[in-house]
Amino acid sequence: MKNWNRTLGVACMAVMMLIVSACGSTNSDSDNGKIKVTATTGMIADAVKNVGGEHVEVTGLMGPGVDPHLYKASQGDIRKLDQADIIFYNGIYLEGKMGDILVKMASDKPVIAIAENVGDSQLLETVDGAYDPHIWFDVQLWMTAVESVRDGLIKQDPEHKEDYEAQATAYLKKLEDLDQYVTEQISTIPEDQLVMVTAHDAFTYFGEAYGMEVVGLQGISTASEYGLKDVQKIVDLLVDREIKAVFIESSVPKRSIEAVVEGAKAKGHEVTIGGELFSDAMGEEGTEEGTYLGMVRHNVDTLVEALK
Ligand SMILES: [Zn+2]
Repeated sequence: MKNWNRTLGVACMAVMMLIVSACGSTNSDSDNGKIKVTATTGMIADAVKNVGGEHVEVTGLMGPGVDPHLYKASQGDIRKLDQADIIFYNGIYLEGKMGDILVKMASDKPVIAIAENVGDSQLLETVDGAYDPHIWFDVQLWMTAVESVRDGLIKQDPEHKEDYEAQATAYLKKLEDLDQYVTEQISTIPEDQLVMVTAHDAFTYFGEAYGMEVVGLQGISTASEYGLKDVQKIVDLLVDREIKAVFIESSVPKRSIEAVVEGAKAKGHEVTIGGELFSDAMGEEGTEEGTYLGMVRHNVDTLVEALK
């Protein structure tokens, strides 16, 4: 049963079968000869651009500040999905409201959950026993996702196999360096400050991989509500352990975190907002944080700056 949770529940089985049947055909009939790829999140679109290079034309559906948990496909999105030769999405219910449309699209093109290759043993569970979809914050897991992108593109466009392989290898090397950077930077934070308080539970993989305790006000999905009790629990933790900073997230309203700061202040403990972390969406296109590499670096630098 748990396996089915990983993508779209029962629908996942249908998608899988349809991927197999659709993979044989190449419908790269775009005008410029490029493979048209539509990706759900910015992080996935970025991975496709890096691996696909000049052979792909990539459209991302979710821009800066967009919350994937609540995202519903617009008419324009449906057109972009329709026109794609191949679709990549995260899976594990990240795109919780796009299940039906992705299943529908899978009837005539490959629709690939990039989280599919991450081994069950590496997936973390939420308190409800479902799998946590935020795999991109463990850079090593994201490398597995990038391999899924590479393999999907090669299957779709075998003619350019060597280019996809070379570009993937070069990008994976950058991710390896990034992974090392994160490890080194986090190790400069004093041990008693290795706590990351944020609005929702997007950073559990990050915490697990790099040794930080992660406390989220909301559950794994932003669709779940937080209550006064949650605020109080976190306030107590901040006061008891003298945590210096909490963090807001680009894709989640910041009022929840402000409530925590106010609460701590009322108890005589000054907590600062350590800055904004990118959680479920990247920064503006054309900026450093508009890429996966820059987004992760920004988060790590923000954490170190505030907690050191
Ligand atoms: Zn999230």
